[in-house]
Amino acid sequence: MCIFCKIVNREIPSNKVLENDDFVAFHDINPKAPVHILVIPKQHVDSFNELSSEMMRDMTPFIQQVAKHVNVDQSGYRVITNIGDNGGQEVKHLHFHLLGGAKLSWGHFADADPKDFL
Ligand code: 5GP
Ligand code: ZN
Repeated sequence: MCIFCKIVNREIPSNKVLENDDFVAFHDINPKAPVHILVIPKQHVDSFNELSSEMMRDMTPFIQQVAKHVNVDQSGYRVITNIGDNGGQEVKHLHFHLLGGAKLSWGHFADADPKDFL
């Protein structure tokens, strides 16, 4: 069973923010911003590649609710999902990072120079 499934099953503790029948939001153990929350489906999905449009439809209002709950909906925030090796996905259970609480930097996304690919 994957680490996030264990969090869903409460085999591993987590600092939960919000939960409903289908999704859980909890604080990232290694935050990269003042607000860094992970939003996951309770059902195991490997990554965004396997995410159904039905699940995305239901996940959208949940993520919006989490942003409101932690009071970043007006100040602004970022939602990211890493996919696969090049995307930097370490945990192979779909998760959206919700980052906020400060002005987030933008850039340095690749070691390679983007101009080399134009
Ligand atoms: P990824 O690199 O797969 O997009 O993101 C995985 C995230 O999960 C990382 O930001 C990492 O800090 C977080 N993480 C890994 N293991 C745990 C854990 O056991 N508990 C919590 N709360 N976060 C975790
Ligand atoms: Zn899982």
